[in-house]
Amino acid sequence: MKSKVLVALFLAGGLSATAVAQQAQPAAGTAPGGRPAAGPPRATLPPPEPIEHITGNVYKIFGGGGNTLVVVQDKGVVLVDTKMPGNGQAILDEVRKVTDKPITTIISTHSHPDHTGSTDFIRERYPDVRIIMSEGTKAELAANPRGNPALLPTETYKDRLTIGEGANRIELYHTGTGHTGGDTFVVVPSAKLLFMGDVMAWNMAPFLPAGGAAAITEETEKLVATVKDIDIVVEGHGHVNDWAGLERLSRFNRALLTEARAAYDRGDAPGVAVAQLQKNPDFAPLLDTHIKKGLEYGNTPLARAHMNVNIAYSEFAGEQAGFGIANGAPLPATDKHKGSDPKDTAPPTPEMLAAAVAK
Ligand SMILES: [Zn+2]
Ligand SMILES: [Zn+2]
Repeated sequence: MKSKVLVALFLAGGLSATAVAQQAQPAAGTAPGGRPAAGPPRATLPPPEPIEHITGNVYKIFGGGGNTLVVVQDKGVVLVDTKMPGNGQAILDEVRKVTDKPITTIISTHSHPDHTGSTDFIRERYPDVRIIMSEGTKAELAANPRGNPALLPTETYKDRLTIGEGANRIELYHTGTGHTGGDTFVVVPSAKLLFMGDVMAWNMAPFLPAGGAAAITEETEKLVATVKDIDIVVEGHGHVNDWAGLERLSRFNRALLTEARAAYDRGDAPGVAVAQLQKNPDFAPLLDTHIKKGLEYGNTPLARAHMNVNIAYSEFAGEQAGFGIANGAPLPATDKHKGSDPKDTAPPTPEMLAAAVAK
């Protein structure tokens, strides 16, 4: 119950004002792309960067919210995710650098505003565009009392959907609740490429506003067991990773849950579980102590691991699964009697943000 309320708050407010304010960048009333940003005032995110070639006919645009994947097909362009509101023109400008073809399809990996925000702008320019998402993502968008009907889909699917044929084939997978209740993974078979949405972002433990530590572990393991023949893994924010990187994250999610359970049962603080994870050199990239470039919410990968162990503790205590508060908010209630060090999950300092690293 409590988690549902928190998730609703998260969805209603987009990324929480706390989270964005903590990025402490100059305020702006208009985001790149010319449209005023919807909702409460936000600090400026890094604007969209020039389109980057990944492989073959696949590109990505970083910044302004989540990564936008651009797949140039025979008859038009498929976009996966459309950043925060106000970035529509910037997305189109970047796409025009590589093709004159129309936008034919938008796929939304999940309901958060940094992934769906500029769909309305593109829909206005291309009224026949297909907008595809999972049933769960549609339900979350439709349940948002401040939601924008122009973000809603023209088509939904439940567990799996194939779009197009041959070199134009794209496959969508929903393998469970994790980051949100409607997470979609997008496979471009011709490029051996998988786009993750926020189940993998900034190469760190995932942010868990919805499903919780146990659910996202199962969701990610099911994905790894289901999709085949992938070389390139594009994260929802930041990095282009690879299949080995995704397998490592999946192992890490499971290890975090296992170590958290053991520490919880012993009555140890969450930090003890994190210390166990730090003993495994395979996990070092996921426990890095730098702020990652373009970070919108949260802290370092190490801090995120602490947060997720705390979330696991609250699940073990039967309090809630996942939580809807971004960084800087109080830790889940369980932490009050388990004694995690507040500095482990504190907001990043300006010095840390200034020293953000790309990898
Ligand atoms: Zn995101
Ligand atoms: Zn998200």
